[in-house]
Amino acid sequence: MSDPRSSTTDAPRLAVLGAGTMGHGIAQVAAMAGYETRLFDLLPDALDAARTRIESNLDNGIARGKVTPEAREQALGVLTFTSRLIEAADGVEIAIEAVPEKLDLKRQVLGACAEAAAEGAVLATNTSSLSISRIAEGLPGPERVVGMHFFNPVHIMALVEIVRGAETSDETVARTRGVAERMGKTPIVIADSPGFASSRLGVALGLEAIRMVEAGVASPEDIDTAMTLGYRHPMGPLKLGDLVGLDVRLDIARYLHGALRSPVFEPPALLERMVAEGRLGRKSGEGFYRWGEAGQLPTNPSE
Ligand code: NAD
Repeated sequence: MSDPRSSTTDAPRLAVLGAGTMGHGIAQVAAMAGYETRLFDLLPDALDAARTRIESNLDNGIARGKVTPEAREQALGVLTFTSRLIEAADGVEIAIEAVPEKLDLKRQVLGACAEAAAEGAVLATNTSSLSISRIAEGLPGPERVVGMHFFNPVHIMALVEIVRGAETSDETVARTRGVAERMGKTPIVIADSPGFASSRLGVALGLEAIRMVEAGVASPEDIDTAMTLGYRHPMGPLKLGDLVGLDVRLDIARYLHGALRSPVFEPPALLERMVAEGRLGRKSGEGFYRWGEAGQLPTNPSE
């Protein structure tokens, strides 16, 4: 494992905390943007897996003509992997945490990072559901804490939701926006509220589509076609639900229903039943569609 402190570049330093599904992708786009990027995880195996995934993503990018061999070498040259938080955080201007979705864990990791980071460093969290204001409670400099919500897979998805907590400063939002743009992403800025912008709207649409199936308004395929051809959505809400996983959709619906107290998010009985029966979408082979063995294309609608 290379030592981040041996680096001689003058590039701004950035740490990514947690090297799983999201962390490896965030580290990849940061390195490609020229940040001296340190990827931290407690588990050496997670770091090895992250390195393999990043190299593979870059190789695929070259094969598809999206990444040059020089850009691949440049990115790998500014990227280091470490299982010591203090090394990762040393002098960074921004840290982005992508550890599991647990409030105390996120606070603990960001708090430890703040001690070694540069003075005034931005402390960003990739949480998909927790309150930014609550994560910031008790951290040194809550005005520096901000949500930076990336989408999976990070190297492909253009959106970053910048989430402003109760105490997040304008300067922190501006700096975070600059980082997202340098990574080639399109940031939007939103207030700290359940589901942020994307999940709240996307889940509302998905749940209403399920209620329409339940009421016999149209088949899943026709409802999806209404959105793809009528509204130019790249994918219909029911197929998207199958891809995300109907169990995941149900969990988010329950959370938003409790948090926003709106009937819009009340889980439809059909969704509850499908999850109870193990019809979870692509991962179980059947949801609103039956999925082929490769899990790529729906064969025929199941309802
Ligand atoms: P993941 O389980 O794939 O990765 C988490 C990583 O954190 C693991 O490698 C684990 O070893 C590491 N970790 C655990 N405890 C740690 C600690 N104390 N210090 C350092 N590393 C530690 O999770 P993920 O899917 O990448 O999700 C990470 C965060 O991103 C979550 O908050 C999640 O809600 C959010 N998110 C996920 C997605 C998604 O599609 N997966 C999308 C947007 C946001």
